[in-house]
Amino acid sequence: MFGKNRSMDCKEFANLTPKWIEDELYGKEAYRFLEHMETCDECREELHIQFLVKEGMERLESGESFNLDEELLNKVDAYKKRLIHQHKMNVAVYWMEAVAIAAMIFIIALVVILKF
Ligand SMILES: [Zn+2]
Repeated sequence: MFGKNRSMDCKEFANLTPKWIEDELYGKEAYRFLEHMETCDECREELHIQFLVKEGMERLESGESFNLDEELLNKVDAYKKRLIHQHKMNVAVYWMEAVAIAAMIFIIALVVILKF
């Protein structure tokens, strides 16, 4: 439970909730946020309430019809997809670097061999 990769605690989760609702959480923070949401019933309930209050007020003002429970699920889904996409991009960059390094080693080896 110590160190940088410890899971998020309830206090940190509460502090980040407004940012999450505004779609302003990224990367590791977003990942840890979702992780805590999935393991902590209390925080999930609290997030649910905050989301309903915030989005509900906006919708009431604009007079649209809405299903916020469904929207919250969609939002969680969108975050997960974004994280998976980021992860794939990181893996792609990693492989591109690996290939570039391998190509450089090959060229250097070729130069060395041709000189002899
Ligand atoms: Zn919690």
